[in-house]
Amino acid sequence: MQQYKNLIDGEWVDSSDGKTFENRNPAQLDDILGGCPFTNKADVERAIDAAAAALPAWGNLPGPARGAILDKASRILEARMDEIATVLTREEGKTLTEAKGEVTRARDIFRYYAGEGWRAGGNVLPSNTGGELLYTRREPLGVVALVTPWNFPIAIPAWKMAPALAYGNTVVFKPASFAPQTAMLLVEVLVEAGLPKGVVNFVTGSGRTVGDTLVGSPKVHGVSFTGSVSVGMGIYEKAIKNLTRVQLEMGGKNPTIVLKDANIDTAVKMVVAGGFGLTGQACTATSRVIVEDAIANDFAAALTQAARNLKVGNGLEAGVQMGPAVSEDQLQTDLEYIGIGQKEGAKLLIGGSQAGDGGYYVQPTVFDHVEPQMRIAQEEIFGPVIGIMRASDFEDALAKANGIGFGLSAAVVTNDLQKAFQFANRIDAGVVKINEPTTGLALQAPFGGFKHSSANTFKEQGQAAIEFYTRTKTIYVGHG
Ligand code: NDP
Repeated sequence: MQQYKNLIDGEWVDSSDGKTFENRNPAQLDDILGGCPFTNKADVERAIDAAAAALPAWGNLPGPARGAILDKASRILEARMDEIATVLTREEGKTLTEAKGEVTRARDIFRYYAGEGWRAGGNVLPSNTGGELLYTRREPLGVVALVTPWNFPIAIPAWKMAPALAYGNTVVFKPASFAPQTAMLLVEVLVEAGLPKGVVNFVTGSGRTVGDTLVGSPKVHGVSFTGSVSVGMGIYEKAIKNLTRVQLEMGGKNPTIVLKDANIDTAVKMVVAGGFGLTGQACTATSRVIVEDAIANDFAAALTQAARNLKVGNGLEAGVQMGPAVSEDQLQTDLEYIGIGQKEGAKLLIGGSQAGDGGYYVQPTVFDHVEPQMRIAQEEIFGPVIGIMRASDFEDALAKANGIGFGLSAAVVTNDLQKAFQFANRIDAGVVKINEPTTGLALQAPFGGFKHSSANTFKEQGQAAIEFYTRTKTIYVGHG
């Protein structure tokens, strides 16, 4: 069995007490990818110190020189695409096509932020007195801790790491324990691209020890976290005690509204992509479909048929369209919510059980007649479970879409331009899709949710990332 290592101060090392944990393939439980360091607090503190020591040199390196390393990393990701995507599928479960899409995204993110090395700067402002020079300067925030989930084990680290590095920060990166090897390969790529020692440090292990030590450290200037609401809220509370800057991206319960003029086949395609793509394990996954009464029966029948046609299996096999849940826990959560939905009185149209054997497979599941107060309408499941809610008209559909504590992504399927733009204006969500699935993001556009889907502080991706990863200094140059 392969043993992975931490990267601390440029050295690949084991946990200092030698403890490890296993990384297992959710599609084939006897396939163990390797053992990872179960890092202790002292090792995490060493990683923070290494990042602090590397900060002055990296932060003062000219932006284009930092960008050149990111550009090289992008090229290496391209060259190692198949290898990394295969590991991603083996440890997380998504199909190889989905995994390649994710590695491609990481490649492009590094390419994009390589360019930021040339662009990021401050502004010159008009002065109050003639002759004074008044300008702002963007500086790196400092040492940043990146804490990421398992569901996008390379794209999410990439969209945090690339801007962090482009703007001159140093990093301690803690990946999710269910998908640590893809994350390690990303760090390996950065080392291969010539990143100086200490600029990125990588520590695997439990959220409670590794994550908590990072979040509580006064030497860490910023924490960027993606994960569940409960962990995110704990991080916020802890980090604020040191006035550490925090960025949180958390859960979703994303609606797609299907209006009565919509083409049913088109709507079904969008909902299947959004709800069953990535096994429903996406923060932007479609989990509620709010359909106008006039077409609800036809839509429900067509979605049921589409779910029946999906091929579920090991993501490495050709033709498989949906992989397993990531873990035994996630499988049990999916099945538990399916049971809750049935007890609450929603009508199970298809699926509802574990599928196949040898992996954590769940059948693509569709409920109809889901009512707003039901738990399956309010709580994030993070699996391939879609609930159809019926609406009397556009206003009713919009009220149902907004009647929830999350606000990450939301879609409408319609040819009615007026309603499409009303939806865009009135939906309480950070990402709005018109005639597109709720999933799928452009890396150059700001990303982040409203309500409990985020801390509502800083957006990620695109030019918006500079706000989190830099601090602004204002400089007045007088003439004595
Ligand atoms: P978790 O919140 O359980 O874990 C996220 C990360 O936090 C992991 O690295 C985890 O480590 C770590 N962690 C756990 N406990 C602590 C702690 N006390 N202090 C610091 N760090 C800690 O989420 P999942 O990994 O299960 O990911 C699924 C969740 O992520 C879903 O709710 C989903 O909606 C959300 N998500 C949000 C996205 C967005 O952009 N809005 C995108 C993708 C996912 P460990 O793995 O070791 O437990």
